[in-house]
Amino acid sequence: MKIKNIRAYRHQFKLTRPYKIAYKTHTTAENVIVEITTDEGKIGLGAASPSPEVTKETIDACLTSLVNSTSWCEGRNIDEFSLLKRECYAHLTATPAACAAMDIALHDLYAQTLNKPLVEVLGRVHHQLPTSITIGIKNVEETLQEAEEYISRGFKVLKVKLGSNLEEDMVRLIKLREHFTNTITIRVDPNQGYTLQDLIVFLDKTKELKIEFVEQPLKVSDTSQLYQLPKHYLNMIMLDESVLNAKDAIKMLTPSPCCGIFNIKLMKCGGIHGALQIASLAETSGIDLMWGCMDESIISITAALHAAFSSPATKYIDLDGSLDLENDVVTGGFHLVDGMMSTVDSPGLGVRKIG
Ligand SMILES: [Mg+2]
Repeated sequence: MKIKNIRAYRHQFKLTRPYKIAYKTHTTAENVIVEITTDEGKIGLGAASPSPEVTKETIDACLTSLVNSTSWCEGRNIDEFSLLKRECYAHLTATPAACAAMDIALHDLYAQTLNKPLVEVLGRVHHQLPTSITIGIKNVEETLQEAEEYISRGFKVLKVKLGSNLEEDMVRLIKLREHFTNTITIRVDPNQGYTLQDLIVFLDKTKELKIEFVEQPLKVSDTSQLYQLPKHYLNMIMLDESVLNAKDAIKMLTPSPCCGIFNIKLMKCGGIHGALQIASLAETSGIDLMWGCMDESIISITAALHAAFSSPATKYIDLDGSLDLENDVVTGGFHLVDGMMSTVDSPGLGVRKIG
């Protein structure tokens, strides 16, 4: 089966719930969708959600890469999958989200040709995991209101965005824990908003609140200061913006791990191939994994879920990125029941194009 054509186009989603994090407010999201068509009419789908703040890739650069740097793939046989996914990295290194979109579409197509769900091709380890759902930076009342709504929808894990004011952050968490006692899991993400001193105060003062982990508390440039934390605190630190790809992961493990958890996002590391490189390093080094996302179509959220379920190091998922999108381009992909995610039992990613 030969690759006949590659099409890439922009798609803008409206967010049903605009949200604020430490450095910006989001009201819409734009993805680049990729469709690889074969001579037998099969279609592999991929999606890119570039993040200029994190990987320095704009939506324009992403689309330009996908329009100009994918002709090497045309006419090639999908049986060459292992080679194709490596070549994809060589051609699209400068634009990791564009690379992820191609990589996801190639994985979807290859698993479809084997007539198996992608996770079965990668080697399934997990069948289902609870995803967190994110609450942006809000006041106490709005935080409690939103938490109440998510819990009524069945979610049991909340990820609370912090980082604009340490005192307010702590008050919000104390109120959340008071309100929901021990019925929910709370994880937090200050998005680089803390200094080392802030972080130590935060960890000391929130000890009783049973915070599951703290994601990317310090600026990327301050990451090495994490070595000054006591070991029991170090293990509950997750790195996101500090770990874009496998090269960064190696740095974070040297000379010894400066965190306990990596947050893998397909859009940072160029897709499933790059993500599984990080996953192997984590597995070897005793680091736990969370699989996270941007505002992404069901296509790439599903791809992350398949990859997550194939790694023994996977402990957490935070794959809520498609839940607030109006007008997605596909349906299917995953089941979400009471906050628990699982893959659908269909070949490839199991997504269906709308229209
Ligand atoms: Mg994060």
